[in-house]
Amino acid sequence: MNISSLRHHLPTQGTEKGREIAASMLRGDTLNRGPFKEAALEQLSTVPEPWLVRLKSEGIAYVALGYGEDLSQTNLIINYSPERLRKEAGTAKEIAAAVRAEVDAELKKERESETDPLRLGMLEHGRTDLLKDKLAAQLEEAGLGFAVRVTRDLLPLAFLEQENGVEDSGYDEFLEPQETERGLFREILLDLNGPEVVSQKGSEDGPILPNDSILDPADDLILVPYAVFGSKRLSPVSRESYKKINGMYMDQHHGGHFWPGRLIMLDDEATLHPSPILSTHSVVLHETGHAIDYIAEGIPELNHRETIDAMFEADMKRQASGEQRVLTPRATDNAREYFAEAVEAYLTNPTDHDTYKADNHHVLLKQRNPELYEYVDRLMKLPALTATSGPENQGTDPEPANSQ
Ligand SMILES: [Zn+2]
Repeated sequence: MNISSLRHHLPTQGTEKGREIAASMLRGDTLNRGPFKEAALEQLSTVPEPWLVRLKSEGIAYVALGYGEDLSQTNLIINYSPERLRKEAGTAKEIAAAVRAEVDAELKKERESETDPLRLGMLEHGRTDLLKDKLAAQLEEAGLGFAVRVTRDLLPLAFLEQENGVEDSGYDEFLEPQETERGLFREILLDLNGPEVVSQKGSEDGPILPNDSILDPADDLILVPYAVFGSKRLSPVSRESYKKINGMYMDQHHGGHFWPGRLIMLDDEATLHPSPILSTHSVVLHETGHAIDYIAEGIPELNHRETIDAMFEADMKRQASGEQRVLTPRATDNAREYFAEAVEAYLTNPTDHDTYKADNHHVLLKQRNPELYEYVDRLMKLPALTATSGPENQGTDPEPANSQ
């Protein structure tokens, strides 16, 4: 492996312990296989050890996806146990009752003050949507993955099960009803929605409920227990979002991060170093730069966000007047990209065989932007980092492949 383009110059870089910490953050099959693992470790061990310790304590996970692979196939995904589902269904039910009461109290005031019959009608119609939005938001806030599904018509149980991958295993008849997948799904469904959700009990014998039962929830809303996917029980909410992030998505983006999930996602080929698609540009280090950005933001003494935002703004002005202050166009996108690119540059040596983002290295960073270099240098040399948490309300940030 050619690591001449990786920069080790601090005593806290490339340590044996650093490699160990880095290895413990790699998830999924791809990143734990020979060349991918070795490449990820070489790159991550350029990150000074105190930062690796901090990244690990933050719960950061790195995962690489190959073509046709998606996140729901990795071991990152929670496989819900019956015990966990039962416990969480109880909490969700309480939340649902509170949200219903809150929405009805809100509508009561509006109903009383509204005299226009048309607007009154719209109020009633909008109740379901209002309820759905509030309930989905509160469940998410509580860390519960039950999906809130609107169903204005009668909903056959068999349809809901098919929609969520819940099937007869073929040997259901030999098991206790609660031990079968359909039995568990129905048990949690009744827990979540109450027995009154079943409007017509069918006659076809099945675990817990007749197979041909019909559902008709009072508010046109149904809480969906879980979805079966690739032999795992997933939250239907996470199944949808995880399915969107797959190997093809990664081919288009090379890498991305999802800060709320403390997740760094990489295209498998982009992980290699040098990479057949990105040469010595390191998506691993760029994405780690984003994580460092969020963590630094959570350390008040650093005044990190204000510092970087101000530097970015000043540099964009200088850049606009013809001065070269940044090393890549990506760094001009926003203050977060500006910082992530700088971290990667700081940890990269110049080489003569770069074809992609060839300017993004240590020497040019110091030359073109000594202030930014000084700041990153100071950050990288911090001896220890206090364990406060970064901001929570950030979404995914895919790296577009077409940015050079
Ligand atoms: Zn980025």
